[in-house]
Amino acid sequence: ALTQQQQKLDSLQTADKQHFIHPFTDSKGLAEKGTRVIERAEGVYLWDVMGHKLLDGMAGLWCVNVGYGRQSIVDAVAKQMQQLPFYNSFFQCSHPPAIELAQKIASLAPKHMNNVFFTGSGSESNDTNLRMVRRYWDLKGKPSKKTIISRDNAYHGSTVAGASLGGMSGMHEQGDLPIPGVVHIAQPYWYGEGNGLSPEAFGLQAAQALETKILEVGEDNVAAFIAEPFQGAGGVIIPPSTYWPEIKRILAKYDILFILDEVISGFGRTGKWFAAEYFDLQPDLITIAKGMTSGYVPMGGVIVSDKVADVIKQDCGEFTHGFTYSGHPVAAAAALENIRIIEQEQLIERVESDTAPYLQSRLQELAEHPLVGEVRGLGMVAAIELVKDKELKQAFDSAVGVGTFCRDACIKHGLVMRSVGDTMIISPPLTMTHNEIDELVAKATLALNDTY
Ligand code: PLP
Repeated sequence: ALTQQQQKLDSLQTADKQHFIHPFTDSKGLAEKGTRVIERAEGVYLWDVMGHKLLDGMAGLWCVNVGYGRQSIVDAVAKQMQQLPFYNSFFQCSHPPAIELAQKIASLAPKHMNNVFFTGSGSESNDTNLRMVRRYWDLKGKPSKKTIISRDNAYHGSTVAGASLGGMSGMHEQGDLPIPGVVHIAQPYWYGEGNGLSPEAFGLQAAQALETKILEVGEDNVAAFIAEPFQGAGGVIIPPSTYWPEIKRILAKYDILFILDEVISGFGRTGKWFAAEYFDLQPDLITIAKGMTSGYVPMGGVIVSDKVADVIKQDCGEFTHGFTYSGHPVAAAAALENIRIIEQEQLIERVESDTAPYLQSRLQELAEHPLVGEVRGLGMVAAIELVKDKELKQAFDSAVGVGTFCRDACIKHGLVMRSVGDTMIISPPLTMTHNEIDELVAKATLALNDTY
């Protein structure tokens, strides 16, 4: 049996090498190691083609909130495919799943947000945001308000607008990005860039960069500020406690829109439906994707405040924007069933009162490890930052590849963690039990010991 599995893996890896261009992958490294082929999943576990079992500490890619193998989502999707696999929501059309989903999401979102624009992904959603905020200001008679302020090391997707809004220098370098009209301010990364300030002082300083930038660009030219509640792909960077209150003060002072990118944080990861509630924020637009369907079917969207929706939906002609798969019926059916599961199993309440406190306290034990500079997290998301010198908070030379080594060591021990540079990321399904968290911490410890 083993040789049969090995043969299957070999032929898949050969075909992969010959025909598959992977996203965000160094092809030379891939060719040397061979692609890791995941074949099936159940609960919080994955199995690769060789039959190795892995605990999925990343919920796929921050998205499988309800865990794998949910028969009721499979059934809902199959039923919808049978009944109406596709129809569009363009040109005054729609269908029951998209309408019901919009209504459902409006009921879960902050009170002042009662409309949804559907897309196929987080990136498309942020493209939508860029176009929608500019449309809003045009309709308000302020067409000069075009610039969007974002942050360094933010991640808002990989389309031209998404990558421009993001602050990843590696992405900007490939393709002359950002596009005009997108500017960036420093990120609130206290551990790495705090420069000896207290977290509180640093948080204030980082937030005040927004005001400086608004004044520099001119309030009349700024359309919006976009941010993740905590940076995800940037390394799970959680702003100091002073950051969001100061940003709120600035947003209240200037007439600009606020886009909160909740592609990772939405649908329960913080122990609230949305991180807007967790951080007490009142965004004008919320970007959603990932946990919206738990990744079972691709889908994204923008939750739109009444303030913006009232302008976009007024008698002003067409908003010339949309995607064939906006509100796709099968994706909407998956999302509705996913939300039903979250509600029925009280997953978010369980995260807030039980699972998240347990995960975070167990992970804090890893902070004692000589390789670990900081463990940070909230809800069901966390980062373990690996450093060369704990006392001096000195990072490794990036060429050493400590994070990559640790990630591979995790795999060896049957655990998936992602590495962002030398920061190890954890964002598991919300369904994880205490026993599974214990297993995660035990395996992470073995991987840290191997890496040290
Ligand atoms: N925004 C955030 C905060 C994300 O984390 C991501 C993906 O990781 C995106 C946007 C882009 O979403 P997608 O990959 O579905 O286009």
